[in-house]
Amino acid sequence: METEINFEELKVNGIKINYYVICPRKLWLFDKKITMEDKSDKVLLGSILHEESYKRDKPKEVLIDNLIVIDIVDSLNIREVKYSDKMIEADKMQILYYLYYLKKLGIEKRGIINYPRHRKREFIELTFDKEKEIEQVLKEVEKVLKSKKPPPVIDAPYCKKCAYFEFCYG
Ligand code: SF4
Repeated sequence: METEINFEELKVNGIKINYYVICPRKLWLFDKKITMEDKSDKVLLGSILHEESYKRDKPKEVLIDNLIVIDIVDSLNIREVKYSDKMIEADKMQILYYLYYLKKLGIEKRGIINYPRHRKREFIELTFDKEKEIEQVLKEVEKVLKSKKPPPVIDAPYCKKCAYFEFCYG
């Protein structure tokens, strides 16, 4: 049976997990499609939601929003390229989610996050403990998304760079 990868689900859930780790409120606002486009935020919401064409006749390398490259067939790895290394924990959790998702489909990979501007690479492996962590995070994400009200402002140093800064502090 051919493995079906739902790239839309993979992409959106990966972003939700990334946002959850950065700030549950950011996740909630993003999920409610509240957009505050701001050039200071490198991950513009509009571009995240932009559909990237996925060429079925070239299945080996799939590019999702220029953020993640998955070598489906040949490589052992999935690679993700990040502009900044400021949110490493969130980046790791995002790629762990991709590894977790793929494992559920019977595809076992390792992850690499490239930070070309910083000439740095992080190698990520989905261990048993990390799987449990991802499952816990998925539950937490669900909880945040079900909430009627946005989670509180977190007052973090990186709030100033967040696309929702005006919304939270205005
Ligand atoms: S400005 Fe701060 S509190 Fe508001 S969504 Fe962004 S990170 Fe969260």
